[in-house]
Amino acid sequence: MQSFSLAHPDSVDAACAAAAGADTAFIAGGTDLMQLMKQEVERPSHLVDLDGVLSDAVETRPDGLRIGALARMADVAAHPEVRRHYRAVSEALLSAASPQIRNMGTIGGNLLQRTRCNYFRDPGFAACNKRAPGSGCAAIHGENRLLGVFGNSASCIATHPSDLPVVLAALNATIELQGPNGAQRSVEIGDFYRLPDDAPQLETVLRPGELIVAVLVPASAAARRSHYLKIRDRASFEFALVSCAVALDVRDGSVRDVRLALGGVAQKPWRLPRVEAALQDGPASNDAFVTAAARVGDGAQPASQNAFKVKLAQRAVLRALQTVAA
Ligand SMILES: Cc1cc2nc3c(=O)[nH]c(=O)nc-3n(C[C@H](O)[C@H](O)[C@H](O)COP(=O)(O)OP(=O)(O)OC[C@H]3O[C@@H](n4cnc5c(N)ncnc54)[C@H](O)[C@@H]3O)c2cc1C
Ligand code: SF4
Repeated sequence: MQSFSLAHPDSVDAACAAAAGADTAFIAGGTDLMQLMKQEVERPSHLVDLDGVLSDAVETRPDGLRIGALARMADVAAHPEVRRHYRAVSEALLSAASPQIRNMGTIGGNLLQRTRCNYFRDPGFAACNKRAPGSGCAAIHGENRLLGVFGNSASCIATHPSDLPVVLAALNATIELQGPNGAQRSVEIGDFYRLPDDAPQLETVLRPGELIVAVLVPASAAARRSHYLKIRDRASFEFALVSCAVALDVRDGSVRDVRLALGGVAQKPWRLPRVEAALQDGPASNDAFVTAAARVGDGAQPASQNAFKVKLAQRAVLRALQTVAA
């Protein structure tokens, strides 16, 4: 593992300034970054510790939820107001990793966890455009059962492995950012992650030295009736093969608002606008759910070993809708 210096700034401005140079990375809980550094996938020479710099507060207000980027996954999952009004947020976090990792891992770090593509995580494989731009992609003609079926490119077919962003996509969350010189901006979660295109090494719209400060989740009737379903090879301590976040508002038997997002299938949480449109203002009936879920695979481009994910995604959407409507 490459040796590194560790800075302990005492403000957001100082942290952004400290991270503006090359070869520098922020560190929060360290549960992903340290693993990548030990495997020499990432080799920063300077780390900037975010402990004490960012808020770890979970604030519930009438208009929504604000989660400080340094909040621990376990604390957010257990927060009574989150469980009551944003159930899928809690469900997604509780489905992630292990209790030990959730005690250390932060919300900001979870949003920025790197892909679990095995070729990316093992520098013994030379070809990985995400780790070494221009080197090729070993997965396209290799082991790709766990990889993407939507938004793939000729350069990369990796998926984003985190559970929480899938729910944040369905709940129309916004990410609050702060960069060097005090520059602040907000980005909708749908615009935060990039598709691989021809630059898979760029996974988000974050600029150099920019920090995630907080996540904002608007309050809504659909958020109160939300659910996260995760399907994986084993029941715990495992990443999603396919997951589905649903937020549903039903009144007088009719769908007033529905948001659906898939995880485990693309480099970003995959919203399903056609499925949502098929359900909007229609009956909240099983027949309607079955008809709408049949459209889940529209636009899918599976790789050689993962066409099963398309069928799995259809079933996940149907089951998530049935669960939340019951
Ligand atoms: C065995 C194992 C199983 C796991 N299973 C799951 C799972 O099923 N689902 C799931 O969602 N996750 C899973 N995880 C991943 C785990 O949730 C992440 O490692 C954790 O969320 C990362 O948070 P962290 O604070 O430790 O991030 P760190 O490791 O500290 O940082 C991760 C990245 O984010 C950057 N960063 C951190 N905070 C900020 C910030 N505020 N602003 C800008 N950049 C920042 C860092 O520079 C780094 O690049 C698993 C991890 C392991 C080891
Ligand atoms: S799918 Fe992406 S991350 Fe995996 S080997 Fe190909 S380029 Fe690398």
